[in-house]
Amino acid sequence: MIENIRNFCIIAHIDHGKSTLADRLIEVTGAVEKRQMQDQLLDAMDLERERGITIKLTPVKMNYQGKILNLIDTPGHVDFSYEVSRSLAAVEGAILLVDATQGIQAQTMANLTFALEAGLKIIPVVNKIDLPAADTEGTIRDLAKLTSEPESEILKVSAKTGQGVPELLDAIIKRIPSPRGNQSAPFRALVFDSFFDAYKGVVTYIRVIDGILKSRENILFAGENVRGEVLELGVLKPKEMQQDSLAAGEIGYVATGLRDVAQARVGDTIIHFSDRDEKQKLILPGYKVPQPKVFAGIYPRSGDQFRFLKEALAKYRLNDASLQYEQESSNALGQGFRCGFLGLLHLSIVQERLKREYNIDLTITVPSVAYRVKLKSGETNIVRTPAEFPDPSFIEQTEEQWVLVEIIARAVDVGGILPLISSHGGIHRNTEYLSTERILVTAEMPLREVVVDLHDSLKSASAGYASLSYDFLNWRPTDLVKLSILVAGESVEPLAIIVPRVHALREGRRVVERLKTAIPKHLFAIPIQAAIGGKVIARETISALRKDVTGYLYGGDVTRKKKLLEKQKKGKKKMAKIGNVNIPPEAYLAALGRSED
Ligand code: GDP
Ligand code: MG
Repeated sequence: MIENIRNFCIIAHIDHGKSTLADRLIEVTGAVEKRQMQDQLLDAMDLERERGITIKLTPVKMNYQGKILNLIDTPGHVDFSYEVSRSLAAVEGAILLVDATQGIQAQTMANLTFALEAGLKIIPVVNKIDLPAADTEGTIRDLAKLTSEPESEILKVSAKTGQGVPELLDAIIKRIPSPRGNQSAPFRALVFDSFFDAYKGVVTYIRVIDGILKSRENILFAGENVRGEVLELGVLKPKEMQQDSLAAGEIGYVATGLRDVAQARVGDTIIHFSDRDEKQKLILPGYKVPQPKVFAGIYPRSGDQFRFLKEALAKYRLNDASLQYEQESSNALGQGFRCGFLGLLHLSIVQERLKREYNIDLTITVPSVAYRVKLKSGETNIVRTPAEFPDPSFIEQTEEQWVLVEIIARAVDVGGILPLISSHGGIHRNTEYLSTERILVTAEMPLREVVVDLHDSLKSASAGYASLSYDFLNWRPTDLVKLSILVAGESVEPLAIIVPRVHALREGRRVVERLKTAIPKHLFAIPIQAAIGGKVIARETISALRKDVTGYLYGGDVTRKKKLLEKQKKGKKKMAKIGNVNIPPEAYLAALGRSED
């Protein structure tokens, strides 16, 4: 009975208690027997447990007072904002959970905006009221203002002790509308997650919008135009429980037998294969393939681990279609991969998984962003590496991506935060008081600056209290140049970087200074230069080692002298690989990388 269904999610800033509350809901409704309960049931993976972040969404079906409650857990980070938007499209309501000791924070705001845009019924809830430091009344006031709900409608809970949880369940039933949907219309369902299972192939989590899907039926992923078959379907409690069918309004899983998650992407619409001619009419709005925003090279620390890294990446990709990678090799770092990520958190998740699950020591180059280059010929190119940067004489205009940054901080820290915006090339838009102690600062900023170190500098300017979220705005013209680094007169391609012209001098000096200390002395003086086009803008020189290496040897031991000279020759041969200078990998890392420990 569709009228008995309530589909909802919990949105919250990290650590405000989303997973803990989900555990209590599951416990109070008895969806999982008590002896099987383990903390943070929905955060299945170790990494999520440890970092307290949810990457994968695990839905759970609960029965409570004659109603069916379907909870979807959403990732709370902007890197995954597309996934979040698709899971919000799968439900009718959202619990907006705010920690009473922290108050409203950046992700609270960002997710609330998403939820309102998705037309969801919002239930504002204050959590952690059991803690002595809780400012329950203050948080209620702020939440009432934020959501335009009367203070009497704001619920108070402790996800830890369970206080207020039954009242919250009642509110879910009363306030969230049941799904609309037509059981007799052609079948269509929204995919809000997909992953690879070694036995069942690609498994998708779906919200049925209209119609009924039965086991063994042939299906079509309408956006990707990929055919599949329902090998198995059912609901999640949160373990898979097989059923014969899934009907309008329901949330469940479908095992497809497909081999590649990229064929069954989040946001796609599943229809009956027999309805393929009606595809355009049935397809749900909002499907897109998210594009990587941040790029970095991943290399094994030791060359013999390359093939393990290759296998590990291929395995990881089975469950994460949004990771892009291609093989690349660098003189300095050897064989590795150039990877594209949705954002910095995505990068760190991939990095940790590789390290943890496959035990590979990695070197990660400094993350960079993509730029857009319009050529005089009328063509537009996306440039991800300095090697792809065209010759300046062909360039009409260069552009970079800007984001809207939202910072929530203590009002007392405003003096430290505003200067950060301008020092990161941002434009301050607005400072708003959320309460007497809390401010919301909005600013426009190049993504490049956010990626570099905004997060760290914000944390230190606010004693760790400020929180940050960002959303993509648009491409804007910036005068970008390729800064080449010349060692002993020869351009060293892996050291090149793309920078705004106004920062070229600063960056050029930084790199040549670092290289000066990182490259060992040779028998000859080595000039190190930073140049744009052919023009040198910064220069350092590594002075020569004492010329006569044999001069110390007393007594004229001819064979020993010969040996030394021989050795010196060999050394020279090896150096010839990179100009005449031997550049150790550490020097590359000092100049543009960081080694991951
Ligand atoms: P999430 O990041 O939103 O999923 O937050 P978690 O559910 O992982 O909770 C973050 C931390 O807050 C954990 O250490 C929880 O034990 C704790 N926590 C969550 N809810 C409560 C609560 O109501 N009271 C207290 N005292 N601690 C809580
Ligand atoms: Mg969590």
